[in-house]
Amino acid sequence: MMTSMERILAVCNHELPDRIPFLLSTREFGMKYAGFSLSQAFTDPDSFIGAQIKVRQDFNQDGVWDINAVPVVDEALGAKLVFPEDDSPYVDYNPFLKSLAELDKLKLVNPNTDGRMPYMLSLVQKLKAAAGPDVPLFAWVSQPFRSACMLRGEANFYRDLIRHPNEARELLSFLTDNLIAYGKALIDRGADIIHTSNPVANTECISLKHYREFVHPYSKRFLGSLKEYGAKKTMYHTCGCWSDRLDLVCEENVDIIHFDEIAISEFKQRFSDKVVAFGNLHTVDVLHQGTTETAAEAALQCIKDGKAGGRFILSANCSVPRDTPPENIRAICRVHEKYGKY
Ligand SMILES: [Zn+2]
Repeated sequence: MMTSMERILAVCNHELPDRIPFLLSTREFGMKYAGFSLSQAFTDPDSFIGAQIKVRQDFNQDGVWDINAVPVVDEALGAKLVFPEDDSPYVDYNPFLKSLAELDKLKLVNPNTDGRMPYMLSLVQKLKAAAGPDVPLFAWVSQPFRSACMLRGEANFYRDLIRHPNEARELLSFLTDNLIAYGKALIDRGADIIHTSNPVANTECISLKHYREFVHPYSKRFLGSLKEYGAKKTMYHTCGCWSDRLDLVCEENVDIIHFDEIAISEFKQRFSDKVVAFGNLHTVDVLHQGTTETAAEAALQCIKDGKAGGRFILSANCSVPRDTPPENIRAICRVHEKYGKY
């Protein structure tokens, strides 16, 4: 029997694992399942670590996650984060940068001393110690383009791309350096796989031309630097529709794509030679609102579509909702146990 680390690395390295790796993104769900509110994760690292270890054991998960999608680099640079009691933190609507003329307000961050980054780094170190070397730890770093939107406001930055493209490039390049610094610190503390996401760069947000010009080169340098530094693999969560730009993402030093609105069979047919397919049970229809029967049926269909030839990790299409009934995930586990073996 393979370890979780061997299983995940096998699919990345074009080898067949003993069974399909299975990993859900469980930040909110894990905390609720373990009896905590999400906000506790930001004051009591042991609550979050305990939740990740419990979810891994109870649902046969092939990895653990840091408190992902919290833009701590943006916060250290000046963005104001709001922390609801039991919901995802978000960046305050009033942007830190009132215009790109204010770029000199930004100073290169030090991940070991600035803002909430030391807390996140120490949590990752403790989580790695608790999970052990055989369990891959996925740690999140924002994408440069996403960070730019967080600091400048999404609509403002989209306008900047047209009105002030040179300053926009300058901001993106500066953010890339900062995000690389934080990613390296995560790797130093034991992160195995660097994962990233960019919900503000899908087909509904920006054109393919803008993606090619303002997202692709920075993402490629950012992930390339972290792989060179020692990230075992990299993963990109493509939230929403990315159909016309997935081929570009494949060229951004990405090993695994956690995808949303594309069928597994189509994804594998088009991209399997370049990246591992990671998905894509529907988080709302199947996990949150489904029954044990519909969850089991959907899991079986995913396995049928994704299993052949490896290069597939069974998951959901996004982060598992907090109030998902655990029995739906248990139903998926049973199907995976029965049909997931090679
Ligand atoms: Zn998503």
